[in-house]
Amino acid sequence: MTAAPLRDTSRLCIHTVTTKPWSLEEAAQAYSNAGVSGITVWRDALEGRDITASGQLLRDSGLEIISLCRGGFFPGAAKAEREDSLTDNRRIIEIAHDLEAPLIVLVCGAVPGQPLEQSRTQIRDGIEAILPDAEAAGVRLAIEPLHPMYADNRSAINTLGQANDMAEAIDSSSVGIAVDVYHLWWDPDLETEIARCGRHGNLLAYHICDWKTPTTDLLLDRGLMGEGCIPLRRIREWVEAAGFSGHHEVEIFSKSYWEGDQHEFLNNITEAYLQHS
Ligand code: ZN
Repeated sequence: MTAAPLRDTSRLCIHTVTTKPWSLEEAAQAYSNAGVSGITVWRDALEGRDITASGQLLRDSGLEIISLCRGGFFPGAAKAEREDSLTDNRRIIEIAHDLEAPLIVLVCGAVPGQPLEQSRTQIRDGIEAILPDAEAAGVRLAIEPLHPMYADNRSAINTLGQANDMAEAIDSSSVGIAVDVYHLWWDPDLETEIARCGRHGNLLAYHICDWKTPTTDLLLDRGLMGEGCIPLRRIREWVEAAGFSGHHEVEIFSKSYWEGDQHEFLNNITEAYLQHS
């Protein structure tokens, strides 16, 4: 079964990194003019800015702040590195609080050469260490499983099954999961694991884009919805069946799209969203 076509952009959210060349003001105005309803803010878009005022600017533009990207990178070979990571994550929680972003997406981290099990233990320890700060700030944390091609240095959590295991073990209403189709579309257990994620109340965010063939850059060649092989409607059907009713977040890192006209790109995003997501 596949989900019915989307009729409007009332649940469309865009990540600021998708239109990376734009300042926060430019993005806010353009998204709002295009009928986009949500925005996920990447930390670099806030560089050197007053955080509280930035949050106000976005809300004044009619945008709902969906999440802040990103925290995480908990593992470290040395204890000092792991402690630095906790300090940085506590800073991100403060930023989310000041921005009034309800959710922080966690790219959990990994250390090349360190066993993945060990990194996963350090990730769990890290999340549990910052959890009281997140709870006090009223901010939730979303573990984002990353495609296994990033298991060397970006995340030791590579399947939704692993993310479900961890979220269920931590067992806090402040910790859940971000499902990103780019990372998870290939997984034969995806439908089952999405259902499990929803059943435990852990499905907090849904990220979309497409997987191009060939992919010319492992990080910066994501496709626009409909340009690749990800069964977007099918996955949305599973996500909706799991009870998710939040925003559909367009997160596209693409050197080639960043080089083009961002207004034209935004137009293409809204069209592709309605046609293919
Ligand atoms: Zn994502």
